[in-house]
Amino acid sequence: MRNPDAVLRKNAALDYIQNYLNTTSFTAAAAYLKKTGAAVLSGSTVPVGATDLGTQDPITGLEQFTYDPTGANAFNKSDVNRDGTVDFNDAVLVDEYNGQTYANQTESLAAVAPTPVTGVTEQISLVAVQQVDGEAAIGSADLNVVNAALTGTATTNWYGYNLQKIGPGTIDWARTGGAVNVYTGASFEVSSGTVQIGGSIDPFSGTGATAGNHVALAINDGAKVQFTPNAASSQIGGLSIDSNSVLDLTNNQLIIDYTTGTQSIADATIRSYLINGRNGGAWNGVGGINSSTAALPANSNYGVGYADGADDVVAGLSSGQIEVKYTLLGDANLDGVVNGDDFTILAGNLGKSVTAWDEGDFNYDGVVSGDDFTALVGNLGKQANGATVQLPAADLAAIDAFAAANGLFADVPEPASLGVVTLLGATLLLRRRRAIL
Ligand code: CA
Ligand code: CA
Repeated sequence: MRNPDAVLRKNAALDYIQNYLNTTSFTAAAAYLKKTGAAVLSGSTVPVGATDLGTQDPITGLEQFTYDPTGANAFNKSDVNRDGTVDFNDAVLVDEYNGQTYANQTESLAAVAPTPVTGVTEQISLVAVQQVDGEAAIGSADLNVVNAALTGTATTNWYGYNLQKIGPGTIDWARTGGAVNVYTGASFEVSSGTVQIGGSIDPFSGTGATAGNHVALAINDGAKVQFTPNAASSQIGGLSIDSNSVLDLTNNQLIIDYTTGTQSIADATIRSYLINGRNGGAWNGVGGINSSTAALPANSNYGVGYADGADDVVAGLSSGQIEVKYTLLGDANLDGVVNGDDFTILAGNLGKSVTAWDEGDFNYDGVVSGDDFTALVGNLGKQANGATVQLPAADLAAIDAFAAANGLFADVPEPASLGVVTLLGATLLLRRRRAIL
């Protein structure tokens, strides 16, 4: 009978070797050992971002290359798929085999993983998946080990296939640097548990040689993707959310690419996700994009807006991109302040049926009405961080005149509008309101 304690000391051994090779005074010998232990992959071509070793696989004859030319991860237990990097690919595997153990022959024989680069399914050892020595089964403690490794600054690779997270745990991305290689066709499907996105770099966008590529994201079967408040702005190459799942934007912004020529379809899809997530204004709905930050009672004057680059409303947003952003109600152009520019957009569409936030529909009811005007006026002169800005008197006068001409004051509730207006010193608005009352 095998003793798990005796067999599974491989993690302690790997940690010892890794640590020793990084601290020994025999630097030349350590460098040699790390290099010879580095992960070697093979393929018909050498991918962008990999180092060509100039050798060929003796069986297949295919070119050999590595993502770890110095062997930095040669003895890193968290490089589960042995591609020379520690990233999402490893975390997904540890999460997938939650509850299973190398000591169970059936489970061991059934364990598989996508081959790095190609995605071809191959067998994987559950001993390699296990991160903590001496335990009965792979579990959350193992995933926590990999999550801790994901806070680093090393390179990460999104290969050109669909990476699916099917385990129940929480993968916590909080990387603070390093290159993200995104290969053409890369997609990430979160089908169980939670993926938490934090850190200071966007994990879904390629840099360097693969700049311009973005991972497509799908969330289904009740899974959740949540951005940590104040995370780096992310860009993804498409978004799909089923009726049981959610993307929690908290207080962040996200850019979603879509295929040029499908603007109306893309806009309608994102809008439906936001209507589901908005949940009548509570911003806690499923089946779409919500915001646990906007859901807080103190943030009732915030929401999640969106704009399509083709509408030419948001500076720097290209056609083929939709921006989704946590911001103040009334911030039609998503620049983080509610001012005369937003009012101009709303004024041009008042009374019209529209399909977008960036046309002035802040409550997603498909029409620009007094309700949207009320929301805008309630935040007039505010920045997204809560600070106030002094608006030109001419702007306030124009808003006042517009309101009077359109009979909108009956829609402005007490006391929010009065408070804001008083704060701004907009006496014109006050006088008009008193006159009507
Ligand atoms: Ca790896
Ligand atoms: Ca604005």
